[in-house]
Amino acid sequence: MDLNYVKEIINKVFLTDSPTGYSFNVDNVIVEELEKLGYNPRITNKGNIELFIEGRDHSKCVATSAHVDTLGLMVRSINSDCTLNVTNVGGPLVPTLDGEYCKIVTRDNKTYTGTILCKASSVHVYSDAKSKERNLDNMIVRIDEVVHNAKDVEELGIQNGDYVCYDPKTVVTPSGFLKSRFIDDKGSVVGILGVLKHFKDTKTLPHYDTYVYFVNQEEVGHGAATVNQRIEEFVTVDMGCVGLDLSGNEFAVSICAKDSGGPYSYDLTTRLINIAKNNNLNYTVDIFPFYGSDIGAAWRSGVDCKGALIGQGVAASHGMERTHLDGIKNTMELLFHYLAD
Ligand SMILES: [Zn+2]
Repeated sequence: MDLNYVKEIINKVFLTDSPTGYSFNVDNVIVEELEKLGYNPRITNKGNIELFIEGRDHSKCVATSAHVDTLGLMVRSINSDCTLNVTNVGGPLVPTLDGEYCKIVTRDNKTYTGTILCKASSVHVYSDAKSKERNLDNMIVRIDEVVHNAKDVEELGIQNGDYVCYDPKTVVTPSGFLKSRFIDDKGSVVGILGVLKHFKDTKTLPHYDTYVYFVNQEEVGHGAATVNQRIEEFVTVDMGCVGLDLSGNEFAVSICAKDSGGPYSYDLTTRLINIAKNNNLNYTVDIFPFYGSDIGAAWRSGVDCKGALIGQGVAASHGMERTHLDGIKNTMELLFHYLAD
């Protein structure tokens, strides 16, 4: 596996904003990468990227996916003091947003910078600056423009429904950690691109006919609801949980046996465990306590497939996330062996 390639594309993928429903820009980055690798993807009406790769054996059709959409915010209303009230897109760990730099993207393609702050933002002024609960009712966006009233803000082109994208703060450390927001699930996006490159580098074809999806509405629950009805097995790649009594960690690939939506397919999950075992991968099997994946979305939409979930362990998920390149590598190896062997 070419981890240098993965490292190379991390910045491109992570630094292109893609909150749920606003993934066009990162879709273009991914399509361009896929075409460079010699693939021929298409973008569906809903905005998912779909790639079909003919396998060596046409008797079965399998799929994998990762989601390109991330958490974010959206302008809810403009206050008379020129700050913006916001609503969440997906489920960010809101207290971690206090003090984050962000961009406001208008519908006529202007971008303004700002900062997400608590309404009690100054210790010299507000007696509850340290104690006020950091929830979205108590948070605003301060815009870096010289404005004096709500009308001035509107004249910038900012309106309700504009996306607010906050800084992913992406860093790869010399010790191999990837720390960034949105490793869920851009860590899997770069991993799958790495696996697709490995297929080309080794001139390997997948065992079975294979669909690969880069999905854009997972964080709100229906990303893979429109995948192809031909799919018989679907292994989605999404972050593994880390913490409490879970065995998942940043260096391993987690194989999820059950999440909030119930158990994953028994024999497919068992097969993935055996592939990990036989290839000496660093893997764990876990229950994800508060979690749903694109397999649930596909199932609820009526796709009659077996489903499984794997992914690198991600610490502090939906907050300031971190994983290690070893975790991404183990996930890539497991996915490659599942698709190729
Ligand atoms: Zn995810």
